[in-house]
Amino acid sequence: MRGVIMRAPGDVRVEDRENPTILEPTDAIIRITASCICGSDLWGYRGAEPADHTPMGHEYVGVVTEVGADVTTVGVGDFVVGSFFASDNTCEICLSGYPSRCVHAQPMGAIGTQAEYARIPLADGTLVATPGQPDPELIPSLLAASDVLGTGWFAAVAAEAGPGKTVAVVGDGAVGLLGILAARELGAERIIAMSRHADRQALARAFGATDIVEERGDAGVAAIKELTGGLGAHSVIEAVGTQESMMQAIRATRPGGHVGYVGVSHGVSLDGLELFFSGIHLHGGPAPVRRFLPELIQLIWDRKIDPGLVFDLALPLEDAAEGYRAMDERRAIKVLLTP
Ligand SMILES: [Zn+2]
Repeated sequence: MRGVIMRAPGDVRVEDRENPTILEPTDAIIRITASCICGSDLWGYRGAEPADHTPMGHEYVGVVTEVGADVTTVGVGDFVVGSFFASDNTCEICLSGYPSRCVHAQPMGAIGTQAEYARIPLADGTLVATPGQPDPELIPSLLAASDVLGTGWFAAVAAEAGPGKTVAVVGDGAVGLLGILAARELGAERIIAMSRHADRQALARAFGATDIVEERGDAGVAAIKELTGGLGAHSVIEAVGTQESMMQAIRATRPGGHVGYVGVSHGVSLDGLELFFSGIHLHGGPAPVRRFLPELIQLIWDRKIDPGLVFDLALPLEDAAEGYRAMDERRAIKVLLTP
């Protein structure tokens, strides 16, 4: 089969890879219908994480082609969505709502779903079948559920977005934009998007943002305070993962408020005394996407939400290198790849 390999930072190729096979009786094999490039794939692309002939991709939707002997909840022919961590969905951590930290969690990034086929470990726990074969126009939204929607949703839940709340969103990538959609669905009263790009501001408003703040850093914090009577937002979503974005999120939150942080942390360190006196709640990490999948799939199936709008470039798998370039140069918000 064909699959994306990052030979080194900045060097993305589509190469012949071994077709996956069932290794454990709990595995399933899926034929990938669509995959995509994640903002977190850019850390390796830019040299901030190691990349050495690394298979790429952890987001996926597809059709089951083979199941191991112990798989019972999905069968051959099912259209399925899964999270970027395989999880058993039975351990205490899964049952408490944190499947991405499952005691048996396996990162799908190690498997690489920017490919024609993928082996899905712990298929019963990991995969959720859709109610039937989806119409083609639903596929981008179902794919979004695999990571960026589920991650934005978790960020909004972790930030306790809801009725009567003002939510500020740091980061205008796909996760931040879908955090806005999630905050709206959860009933937030006011949603402030922090973005300086006109096309992303437009999508933010389409997803439910009521205000836009273009300033960053201390000026961005001051703008949020000005919009909230000097107090700061009740709920802040952090969807970048840098020192600047994390401090922007913490300082824009009112005492007693909540930060939901889902940007993969790179080089962030927090000052204990500042954290102490901030009086805020911090909750985040690798989003437990699997927890939300049944609900999100239904919202998409019923056409109540359209998170697939974050894909503003679709390319054949063979052109993956151009997709990485487009995202690296911020010419594209998110790139969908079809084998
Ligand atoms: Zn588990």
